[in-house]
Amino acid sequence: MTHRILIVEDTPTIATVQKHIAVSCGYEADIAQSLAQAQVLISEHHYFCAVVDFILPDAPNGEAIPVTVNAEIPTIVMTGNIDKRTRETVDKYPIIDYITKENKQAYQYLKKQLTRLPRNETVKVLVVEDSRHSRLYISNLLYRHKYQVLEAKDGVEALEVLQQNPDISVIIADNEMPRMNGDELCVEIRRLYSNEDKVIIGVSGSDSPHLSARFLKSGANDYLRKPFNAEEFYCRLSLNVDMLDQIATIKLQANTDYLTKLPNRRYFFEQAKKFQKIRAINNQASQVSMIDIDHFKRINDDYGHDAGDDVLVALAKVFDKFFSEQLLARLGGEEFVIYFNSNDEQENSKQLEQFRKYIELNSRSFTQHNIQFTVSVGFVSMQENEIDELLKDADKKLYKAKELGRNRVVL
Ligand code: GH3
Ligand code: MG
Ligand code: MG
Ligand code: MG
Repeated sequence: MTHRILIVEDTPTIATVQKHIAVSCGYEADIAQSLAQAQVLISEHHYFCAVVDFILPDAPNGEAIPVTVNAEIPTIVMTGNIDKRTRETVDKYPIIDYITKENKQAYQYLKKQLTRLPRNETVKVLVVEDSRHSRLYISNLLYRHKYQVLEAKDGVEALEVLQQNPDISVIIADNEMPRMNGDELCVEIRRLYSNEDKVIIGVSGSDSPHLSARFLKSGANDYLRKPFNAEEFYCRLSLNVDMLDQIATIKLQANTDYLTKLPNRRYFFEQAKKFQKIRAINNQASQVSMIDIDHFKRINDDYGHDAGDDVLVALAKVFDKFFSEQLLARLGGEEFVIYFNSNDEQENSKQLEQFRKYIELNSRSFTQHNIQFTVSVGFVSMQENEIDELLKDADKKLYKAKELGRNRVVL
C-alpha cells in the first residue's frame, strides 16, 4: 500500500525537494502552500503523516501544527531555527519530530524519519513497567511513532509475553519491579534469545550511578534515566532499531545469491547440516537433488553473458514456484541444489520430473531473447550423516544424466 504524505510548505523550491525525498521513500505526496490549502486537502484525503513548515503566510507562529496533530496525522515540523519561543510551541504538541532547516543534515534526516515511520509499523515493542503511569507514558510515545506495543507489569510477565510473541524485537524494561527486576530480566532474555534480533533498553528512576553500568553488563543495549523527555527517548530507540535493521540486512546479504536472489551456497550448507543432524538422530534418509542447465556455455556464447544472466534469474523464479517449500540454493554458476523437507521419494522425484518437463516446454517464454534451454537433474535418497557425501552422490547422478543425453532426471 502506498502511504500518502501531506507537505505544508510555502517556499516552492523547498516543497519540491521535500516531495522528491518523500517519493524516493515510496510515498505519494501532496503539497499545500498555506494552512488554508492544507485544511482542504486534509478534509479530502487520509494522510499517513505530514511535514509542516513552522512559518506559513496564513500561520506565522506554528498555527498549522495543531491542525495536523488534531486531525491525528503524525507530524514532522520544519523550523527555520529553534529559538526559545519556537521550542516552547513545538514542545506543546505531540509531534513526531522537529527538524531545523539550517542544519546541513536536515534533508537527510527527514529522509531517515520518513523511512522509519512505515518500518515502525512492523516493529513490536514490549514495555515492561510496574508503574501504570510510566507504562502508559512510554506506550503512548511508541504509538505516536507507529510502533506495535505490548505491555508487561514485571519481568516474569515479560518472559511470558516474549514466549507468545517471538517476533518482539525491542524490550524497554524498568529496573525497579516486583518478582523480577529489569537487570535480572536482561540476563534471562540474553540467555534465551539471540542478541542479533532483540534490543533491550533499560529504564530507571534510581540515582545510583552504578545502575546504568549494571544494566549494560547484564545485556542491555542502552539505558535511560527517568524522567526522560520524548526527544531523547526517540533518538535512542530509533538508533537501536536501525541497528537491528542493519544486522538483518547484512545477514540476508551474506546468505543470498546476488544475481538470482536465491539462498546461496553458504546458507545451504548451514541449514542442510542442521537438518542432517535431526535425520541422523531419527535414522531417516535424506533426499537431495542437483540441477544443472544444459549447454549453458553455448547460451553465453550465442546470446552474450547478460542473456545468460537473464536465463539464471528466470530459472530461479521457476525454482521458487516449484520448490518454495524446500531448502533451495544456487550452488554456483548454473548449478542448483534442493534439500527436500519430506521423505516421500516418489512425490519428490515426480516433482523434479514435472519441473524438468516444464522447463523443456516453456523456457522460451521466460527470457527476453526467447532462449530455448533444458536442465539435467540428479536425485538421491539415502541414509547418510554427511551432507558432502550426499551432494557427491547427487552430482554423480547428474553427471550420468549428462552422459545419457541431458534433459532428464536420473534417480
Ligand atoms: P553441460 O550441459 O555439460 O552442463 O554444459 P555447460 O555448458 O552448461 O557447462 P559448463 O560447465 O561447460 O559451462 C558453464 C558455463 O556457465 C561457463 C560459465 O562461464 C557460465 N557461468 C557461470 N556462472 C555464470 C553467471 O553467473 N552468468 C553467466 N551468464 N554465465 C555463467
Ligand atoms: Mg518501577
Ligand atoms: Mg551446465
Ligand atoms: Mg555446471
